[in-house]
Amino acid sequence: MKKRIVILGAAKSGIGAAILAQKHGFDVFVSDYSSIYEEFKLQLVENDIDFEENQHSKEKVLNADEIIKSPGIPDKASIVVEAIENSIPVISEIEFAYRYTNAVIVAITGSNGKTTTTNLVFNILKNAGLNVGMAGNIGESFALSVAKDNFELYVLELSSFQLDGIKEFRPNIAILLNVTPDHLDRYNYNFDEYLNSKFRIVMNQEYSDYFIYNIDDEAVARFIQEHAIKSQMLPFSLIEKSENKAWADDEEFVISNSKKLFKMKTSELALKGRHNRYNSLAAGVSANVLQIRNEVIRESLMAFEGVEHRLEPVLKIRDVLFINDSKATNVNSSWYALESMITQTVWVAGGIDKGNDYTILRELVRKKVKALVCLGVDNEKLAEAFGDIVPCYEARTMKDAVNGAYLLAEKGETVLLSPACASFDLFENYEDRGQQFKNEIRKL
Ligand code: ADP
Repeated sequence: MKKRIVILGAAKSGIGAAILAQKHGFDVFVSDYSSIYEEFKLQLVENDIDFEENQHSKEKVLNADEIIKSPGIPDKASIVVEAIENSIPVISEIEFAYRYTNAVIVAITGSNGKTTTTNLVFNILKNAGLNVGMAGNIGESFALSVAKDNFELYVLELSSFQLDGIKEFRPNIAILLNVTPDHLDRYNYNFDEYLNSKFRIVMNQEYSDYFIYNIDDEAVARFIQEHAIKSQMLPFSLIEKSENKAWADDEEFVISNSKKLFKMKTSELALKGRHNRYNSLAAGVSANVLQIRNEVIRESLMAFEGVEHRLEPVLKIRDVLFINDSKATNVNSSWYALESMITQTVWVAGGIDKGNDYTILRELVRKKVKALVCLGVDNEKLAEAFGDIVPCYEARTMKDAVNGAYLLAEKGETVLLSPACASFDLFENYEDRGQQFKNEIRKL
C-alpha cells in the first residue's frame, strides 16, 4: 500500500511539500484549518492533490504514516497533539525536501539578518558561476524547488519553526547570525527553548561540516561553552581580532580562519551598518569554505544592492533622507538601524508589540533621535518608554506618519521607519507597511 503523507497548512511550504510528495508517489492529502488562498488551491487542483479547508477532519489526518506541518502551526495545536499521541511522526517541509536532494546545503538562521545574508551568499555563489538555488523562508519553498529544479547547491533561509521540525536535516555549512528574544510566545516565554531551537541547525552535523557563528553574541557564546558541537567551528567577530576568527573593524575586513586568507577594506562593503558587517562576514566565510575565488567574494560584497524593506534608502526630499526598514519587527533590529544613523533622525516606530523591552534603545534614542512618531493602534507603551527623552507624536495612518515626520525633519536629517514591532494592527504585513511608506513619500 502507498505510504500516506498528510500535510497540515496549505500555504507556500505546504503546497511545495504536497507537490514533491505527489511526485514521489505517496498518497497525499492536504488539510488546512482556514480557507486556502485561491492561488494555492489552483496549484492543488492542477496537480490533482486531494485537500480540505476550514477543518482538520481527524479520520483523514490521523490515518497518516507521516505528517508534514507548516511552520506557522504551533506544536500545541490540538490536531498536532493528537497526531503525536498516536505516534505519527510530524516533520517540517525542510526535513521532507532534504530527503530528495543531494545538493550541498548552506543553511542560515538567526533572529535577524537571515534574508540579507541568504541573499549575500546566494549572490556570491551565483557570481562564481555555480548552479545554485535559494529557498526556505525566502522565495520559493525548498520542497517545490527540489521537485522541479536540479540545483547542485542550495542556500536556505531557515526560521526556528522550520528547524523545530527537522530530524535528519544536515547542512554542509550552517550559519548562525545571532539569537535575541523574538517569537517567545511559541517557546513558553523561555529564551533558552528558543536558543535550543536555533542550535538544531548543527545537531546532525559531522566533522566534515562547518559551523559559522557570531561569537560576539552572548547567547551563542554561552551555548557553545555548554555543548559539544561536532562540526568545524568558524567564529566571526567585530570585537576580537585574532587569526582563528573572521573579523572586521572600521578599516579592515579579514577572513583568516578558513581555507584561504581573504582581506578587503571595510569601507568597500556595499551594505552599511554594523549589523551588515556581521552579515557580510558570515557570507564571506561560507564562500571561502566553498573555495570561491577571493576576487569573486570581494566584488560580490562590493556590488550587493541590498534587500527591499531592510534599511532601504527611498528618496531624499529637500535634503531629508527617507529610509525604509519596515522589516525591523523586533527591538534588536531597530537597535542596529538606529545605530547606523549618521544624522539626527525622526524615528517612525510602533505596531504590535511582542512583549518588547525598549530599555536597550534608550541610549541610542537619546543620542540620535529628535522626535518619535508612534504608528500603531496602541501607542501607549512606546510613548511611555521614550516620552521622557524625546517628543512623541501619534499617527494612525501611514499618510499622517510620513507627513508628520517630514514636518519634523530639517535639512540634512533622516526619517527612519524601523518599527521594532509587527505590522498586523494597521497593515497586511511588513511588505505592505514598507510599500505604503514609500508611496506616501513619493506623494510629498
Ligand atoms: P530576517 O530574515 O532574519 O528577518 P532581514 O535580513 O530580513 O532578517 O533583516 C531584518 C531586520 O533586521 C532589518 O531591519 C535589518 O536591517 C535588521 N538586521 C539585518 N541584519 C541584522 C543583524 N545581523 N543583526 C541585527 N539586525 C539585523
